[in-house]
Amino acid sequence: MAKILIIEDEKEIADLEKDYLEMNNFEVEIYDRGDTGLEAAENNDYDLIVLDLMLPGVDGFDICRKVRAEKDIPIIMVSAKKDDIDKIRGLGLGADDYMTKPFSPGELVARVKAHIAQYQRLVGAGNKKQENDIIEIRGVKIDKTARRVFIDGEEKIFTTKEFDLLTFLAENPNKVYTKDDLFRTIWGMESVGDIATVTVHIKKIREKLGDVSGDSKYIETIWGVGYRFKI
Ligand code: CA
Repeated sequence: MAKILIIEDEKEIADLEKDYLEMNNFEVEIYDRGDTGLEAAENNDYDLIVLDLMLPGVDGFDICRKVRAEKDIPIIMVSAKKDDIDKIRGLGLGADDYMTKPFSPGELVARVKAHIAQYQRLVGAGNKKQENDIIEIRGVKIDKTARRVFIDGEEKIFTTKEFDLLTFLAENPNKVYTKDDLFRTIWGMESVGDIATVTVHIKKIREKLGDVSGDSKYIETIWGVGYRFKI
């Protein structure tokens, strides 16, 4: 079981992250101070760190720098301020990912999984070459490991949710899902918003796939019911 270290001084956020990660079978430890968190990171083996930026004791900048000097485990930095995220990106501290609070716990889980998979592949690469997890359907290639999509060999950029939605449908072809199903699956119960979001995302995905409404090659609308990925 992969072990995650959360260094976060806002108890509610840390607990929410922990709950979601545990639901997804991760083992989680929380430290609410920078100094104790850094000590834990240096002295234990974790598979990933979710690191808040503003912390008592030692801040996230220093923790990231110090951990990175010794270990190459994935670090996801989180901050309430978008400006701070831009700043840390610019500093090149070596974090693997950045998230601005508030984010949906579902998105955190998705990113944690992706980074752990990527890291394990890197670590395992010395022993055996592992292939990326790829779905390929009639010219659409979805690289689940790298979270990249190629249409007839050309890469198209999908947002996190567009990617999750497309992947979910492509992994479950020929099954019809209602907008409600899709909203719950991709956005999660905790999300604010409504099922119109699904329609908007499907539209964007179709545009990127070059799918024409009414004569869809990939995502078909089942009127009054929902959508399915044709195979
Ligand atoms: Ca904080």
